[in-house]
Amino acid sequence: MTRYIGRPPLPERINRLEELAVDLWWSWHPEAREVFRRLDYTLWRATAHNPVRMLWTIAPEKLQAAAEDPEFLRVYDRAVAALDDARGARNTWWSRSFPQLGGQSIAYFSAEFALHQSLPIYAGGLGVLAGDHCKEASDLGVPLVGIGFMYPQGYFHQHVSAEGWQEESYEALNWADAPIEPALGSDGKPCITAVPLGDRSVLVAIWRVRVGRVKLYMLDTDLEENAPWDRELSARLYGGDRETRIQQEIILGIGGVRALKSLGSDPGVFHLNEGHAAFVILQRIRDLVEHGSTFDQALEEVRSTTIFTTHTPVPAGHDQFPFHLVEKHLAGCWGTIGAHRDRFLALGAYDNGGGPQFNMTALALRSAGATNAVSRLHGEVTRNMFAPMWPDVPAPERPVTSVTNGVHVPTWIAGELSQLFCKYLGEDWIEHHDEAALWDAVPAIPDEELWKVRQSLRRYLFTFVRERARQRWMEEHVGIPRVVAAGTLLEPDTLTLGFARRFAGYKRPELVFHDPERLARILNAAGRPVQIIFAGKSHPADDIGKHHLQRVYKRALDPMFGGRVAFVDDYDLHVAHFLVQGCDVWLNNPRKPLEASGTSGMKAAINGVPHLSIGDGWWAEGFTGSNGWVIEGGVSGDNTEAVDAADADALYRLLEEEVVPAFYDRDKSDVPHRWLATVKEAIRTVAPRFSARRMVKEYTERMYAPALERRTSLKSEV
Ligand SMILES: *Cc1c(COP(=O)(O)O)cnc(C)c1O
Repeated sequence: MTRYIGRPPLPERINRLEELAVDLWWSWHPEAREVFRRLDYTLWRATAHNPVRMLWTIAPEKLQAAAEDPEFLRVYDRAVAALDDARGARNTWWSRSFPQLGGQSIAYFSAEFALHQSLPIYAGGLGVLAGDHCKEASDLGVPLVGIGFMYPQGYFHQHVSAEGWQEESYEALNWADAPIEPALGSDGKPCITAVPLGDRSVLVAIWRVRVGRVKLYMLDTDLEENAPWDRELSARLYGGDRETRIQQEIILGIGGVRALKSLGSDPGVFHLNEGHAAFVILQRIRDLVEHGSTFDQALEEVRSTTIFTTHTPVPAGHDQFPFHLVEKHLAGCWGTIGAHRDRFLALGAYDNGGGPQFNMTALALRSAGATNAVSRLHGEVTRNMFAPMWPDVPAPERPVTSVTNGVHVPTWIAGELSQLFCKYLGEDWIEHHDEAALWDAVPAIPDEELWKVRQSLRRYLFTFVRERARQRWMEEHVGIPRVVAAGTLLEPDTLTLGFARRFAGYKRPELVFHDPERLARILNAAGRPVQIIFAGKSHPADDIGKHHLQRVYKRALDPMFGGRVAFVDDYDLHVAHFLVQGCDVWLNNPRKPLEASGTSGMKAAINGVPHLSIGDGWWAEGFTGSNGWVIEGGVSGDNTEAVDAADADALYRLLEEEVVPAFYDRDKSDVPHRWLATVKEAIRTVAPRFSARRMVKEYTERMYAPALERRTSLKSEV
């Protein structure tokens, strides 16, 4: 079946281009990327690397020429063979490590997945983590199936007005341009499932996304048969009010379990990535009770096969709903467990201040057999934050462990750096990248070669920033101050700090401007200037976040900083790649301990961009003394002004006394050896430990496999 009706047909010799384009596997395999780059480089760039759209728009002559070009065919054949290898591989880390668990699968539920900019179904860090988890599961052969939402109208683009106010425009998904296909049921027809919601039934279509060996199923309520308000339910990510939100979460949790069933999938373990999907528990209990279990037996079985990851130490980040909303929207879901309604509702009851509500995190904590936070420090914080859940249990024994986040190295590593690693760590470095010993070869990389790569990565970033500024200037006719604020006065050889993340108060985006005169002296220093590039969106409904963004933007417009502060708009995966690879230092100054983990600093560090950060989240365990810097103001407590002042002072001191001098300390050939020692330590220490490979192996060994073993032994007892 082809979905490209009306698209120019592919020449026979290269007719597997389509298969290559719709499997996001291509996005982290240089040999596959090379196919599309060579096919039409202009189009590759113009589509922001979207091979599906390329195949729609490419001139037929180009395809014909490619089909007759021996050099292209060599690259093409190699990529297709690699895809076949990856999909067919029988000898994977998973199969070697857990041969007894073959045939079982793990369902991974997440409200967002950030896999590639051509599939815009994510908002930020949570989605990136989920996307990286799936890609790594594919690499390791871990039999994961992802469940999420399609969000056809969901992706918001950020525009910044002349006053620095964030405005949003929503991009409707162009179905033809996205790497998706209808998921087919066992009868070969597109699979549609029904979800009871309130007093009605909502139909949910299912889309399939291929990520190498891993498949993702995306739920979509935008079907003609549904009422207009139900069609809207999956339209937008985190849009709407509490009512919309709870209905979305019912679709995700209850609809997701039903969707898997209708696709013939029977996962052995359910991993809830954040509390959004916790209604999975209700549907599973109900299925078990229908098959004859008591409520307690069902809960026990669900518990032994559910894994829950919690992601935020910010209390408002935990979804909760008034009980009447839960009762209203779950009305149709009870079925055979109607008699146990109160028991189920009690699983979610929690007083987060302001009286008991139905709290999705509490539901997941009480119903999952294994719960983890996303860094060691976040583990401690979570055990304390939810202390009332376990009134008699001392903190260290409360049942929340931690699995520190990691990033998918093949996705985030710069191509030129990867080639350098091939030369000095071995051609197959990527196969072994979570082995610490491999990275002991990093110090031996000649400084000159490493510096050359770092310089060229910074220049790519500047070309990208300048092109974006040019576009705004040409297409939107923004005024000259905004062209400056977009980064046109940045210099390609200047020490560049990057700060890119969601604009939220606890991340303190304006901290570096605490003493503007002192900062201006640092930025404008003769002979050793510094520049800062900001990027990030604010949640559309978060006016406080938008005010933070506005204050930063006004600094970028302010002549006192000499055009050395820039704001790059519309932060997404594409922009993130340029920034984490092209800056020199990654700045992170959240209010401790509110950053659960953070992952952008890991992406930067593996590319030789050391972290300059508060010792929060992953950095509390990642800092070794020589792989970056810790901002330590020495003041804690509730007086946030005093904490901010002390942290800002510590940040300035690090810049003045350590970061800037090391960067500009050059030898006769202009190579900064002292600087590169830190760069190398950042790569050497962060790449293996904070890789998604280490993370997915840890989830598999500590959580998935034990749960699957338990299930296997339970089954054999029956
Ligand atoms: C990595 C990434 C994030 C998460 O960054 P944090 O450091 O965790 O805030 C958010 N958005 C995009 C586009 C990313 O690539």
